[in-house]
Amino acid sequence: MQNTRRALVVGLGIAGMAAAVRLRSIGWTTVVVERTPQRRTGGYFVGLFPSGERAARDLGVLSTMHLRTPADHRTWAVDGSGARQRSVGFLDQPGHPDGVLRGDIEAALWEKLDGQAEVRLGTEPVHIEQTARAARVTLRDSATGETYEQEYDLVVGADGLRSTVRRLVFGPHEQFMRSLHTIICAFSLDRQVSGYGDHEQIVIAEPRRALWIFPFRDHPPTALFTYRTDDIDAQFRGERADVLAARFAGLDAGGIVTQALGALRHAPQALFDSVHQVRMPRWHRGRVVLIGDAAWCLTLFSGMGASSGMIGAVALGDELARAPESIGDALRAYDKRMRPLVRRHQRLAYVKAQLFVPSSVTIAKLRAVLLRMVTRQRLHAWLGRPS
Ligand SMILES: Cc1cc2nc3c(=O)[nH]c(=O)nc-3n(C[C@H](O)[C@H](O)[C@H](O)COP(=O)(O)OP(=O)(O)OC[C@H]3O[C@@H](n4cnc5c(N)ncnc54)[C@H](O)[C@@H]3O)c2cc1C
Repeated sequence: MQNTRRALVVGLGIAGMAAAVRLRSIGWTTVVVERTPQRRTGGYFVGLFPSGERAARDLGVLSTMHLRTPADHRTWAVDGSGARQRSVGFLDQPGHPDGVLRGDIEAALWEKLDGQAEVRLGTEPVHIEQTARAARVTLRDSATGETYEQEYDLVVGADGLRSTVRRLVFGPHEQFMRSLHTIICAFSLDRQVSGYGDHEQIVIAEPRRALWIFPFRDHPPTALFTYRTDDIDAQFRGERADVLAARFAGLDAGGIVTQALGALRHAPQALFDSVHQVRMPRWHRGRVVLIGDAAWCLTLFSGMGASSGMIGAVALGDELARAPESIGDALRAYDKRMRPLVRRHQRLAYVKAQLFVPSSVTIAKLRAVLLRMVTRQRLHAWLGRPS
């Protein structure tokens, strides 16, 4: 059956491109609008779990995605003095996620989307009104400031943590964003820090502050500074490298922190942001539906944000194909289907956050004991000895 329905997808990130690819594959005509004037590339380390890889395969992009897990990767836990100990890292988690750059997922989706959807850069919605027949969206072209109205059968809000679609249709950010009282700064190093190989992951985790360095195949490592704070607003007053230098004062770990801070000062791109989950009782209203970070931001600590964006896109497409006559039924089914996965990973994110950056001295000690036990078990397994 030829489907002549039109969807507007807001946001050209992983969730938006995945939704556009999936909608196109079930016959929808899709327009994607993106606020920035250019499609972004690059990005930080992302671990892709098997469920995310399955969704990527269903979207037809797994085979073209550049997976970058280094062969023979290993992890070092490094203490404040620079002493190192074998440990387990992100890629050793159950399920053995693959390491990619966020841009690798976006590049594969972009290639798939090419020519399949109209993409308007430098464009964002400023008003959304729903009638019985359609969603009427006012769009603004940021270059000219010109606004125009268009009607769509469906609007997909895939515009990230601080979603405009969510604010316009569901309510203010404060209603849905829950702070984890944590700051992150993620960026690419120009080379591995001295004394370590390109395949080595470095974890420096103290109570309330941590630095992780993620290795890749075919790319320099990326760094992630993270720390806990009760005053989020204060972290945005001042230059980010200076703010970090102050937070990490007294911790150098044999020069690693100094090298990473030096690289940050010259990094062409860096993400410096506070960490929030998005908690919503419903992800749809009328003909508007949310997906990805806009709907449920799990946070980087869950390691499932990119995967869940693609899983959501597959689910949305499946349910729209299953109930072609009723968008309301399809969106309810999509919500119901995604709920258990999101609930589970939102809870797990709080636990995993303690592995990234322990919230107290006691938790840091417990974490160290736990990781030593797991590491010992893994080393024994690798050596073929019973533990
Ligand atoms: C440091 C870090 C590490 C991470 N690690 C992992 C990991 O290991 N595994 C994992 O699965 N996930 C990880 N994540 C999470 C993952 O990167 C995100 O969940 C995912 O990229 C979110 O995709 P998205 O498309 O929902 O949102 P976004 O990536 O935020 O994309 C939203 C898009 O919408 C655009 N936009 C915003 N507002 C508007 C507007 N008003 N109009 C039009 N366009 C707009 C933005 O410019 C952007 O292009 C990590 C995140 C971070 C920050």
